[in-house]
Amino acid sequence: MGSWNAVIDVSNVCWSPYLPPLGQRAPVWERLAIVMAAWLEQHGDDARFELVADDSLERVLGPDTRYFLDLKRTGEIRSVSVADGEILRLAAEGGLHVITRDHYTDYRAAHRWIERSPERFHAWDTGVDGTVRLAPLGIRTRSAQDVSQAREVKVLRWSAKLDARNQAHRKILQTRWRCPNVSCRQAAQWQGQLLAWPRISPEGAAICPSCRRPLVALGPRSALHEVVVADLESQAEIMRFPLEVDCPVIVGRGAAVKGIDLAMYTNGERSAIDTVSRQHLMMRLTSAGDANWRLSALDLNSTNGTTVERWTGSDFGQARPVPADTETYLGTRDRLILGDAVLLRLSGKRYLAEPTTMQNEQPKRVIPPGETAVVRRPPLSAG
Ligand SMILES: [Zn+2]
Repeated sequence: MGSWNAVIDVSNVCWSPYLPPLGQRAPVWERLAIVMAAWLEQHGDDARFELVADDSLERVLGPDTRYFLDLKRTGEIRSVSVADGEILRLAAEGGLHVITRDHYTDYRAAHRWIERSPERFHAWDTGVDGTVRLAPLGIRTRSAQDVSQAREVKVLRWSAKLDARNQAHRKILQTRWRCPNVSCRQAAQWQGQLLAWPRISPEGAAICPSCRRPLVALGPRSALHEVVVADLESQAEIMRFPLEVDCPVIVGRGAAVKGIDLAMYTNGERSAIDTVSRQHLMMRLTSAGDANWRLSALDLNSTNGTTVERWTGSDFGQARPVPADTETYLGTRDRLILGDAVLLRLSGKRYLAEPTTMQNEQPKRVIPPGETAVVRRPPLSAG
């Protein structure tokens, strides 16, 4: 009894072309009922469901949105900005089965139980006779590299609808943008240029992640890195933003931030950012000679403080406070913790550190902490 209780990846179900109406690549609300009925048919009427959807589903269901909202009102469905993390959390805590066609490759590191319990994952399919059946999804063990790569690609797609492997998209990532919409609340916070990643329209144009209007290109970016912001406890990513040389970025919470407002990305439901101050931290990449730069952080007198954990080569050292009055220099693998709850680190993505196509550009690196002298690399011989 109760052993067939399951959490359903509702967005994945509704979008699936493997459910009637077969082949239709648009969300269909009815598909949820079909999958639930098939599960009960196979595993007994006493099975119970947890329903989790992405917030975005609500906006794409058309007239059926009302059914979604009815369930949301009664608490029978929950929606979050990215459902995967919530689905896996519920499954892990409740020992539930998972109904999905997603292999969650990008979550394998955070949820090691996935590979230990492949029998708990079930995918749907529709037979030639039109009968929908649930069968083992076929979770297989993935290498750490596969997992890491899946995370990078998926997070970029999620946060920006941009694909780093796509040439046109890469050009968008390497361009500096401005939102021309004077009534765009976030544009006003962005100091004349967009600090977050742009989104991409169905036509392939760069659009404002906030108001969705077309952006104005300001030219190529300088050398840049990408900062990953995650929930410290669950390791779930909250967002990513580009950090460009000589363009300091403030991270905080709330509309008054002249910078990255984390509240925009947590949908008001998460408490992870509650301990983050309005203006919490400034991050900066400064040029330190022709071929080098420095990464630094400055706590902006935040209420709950910032700590840094230095990468020792094999592990992270003990957390030490980041002072509010002086800039703290960081190594590429050090990580910052805001208010004991939010983690900031550089992403390992390499292509973003090569900002232009200038052929003779020197390879660049971040100066490790403790290294005071500015290191210049010898120029490469041209040609
Ligand atoms: Zn805008």
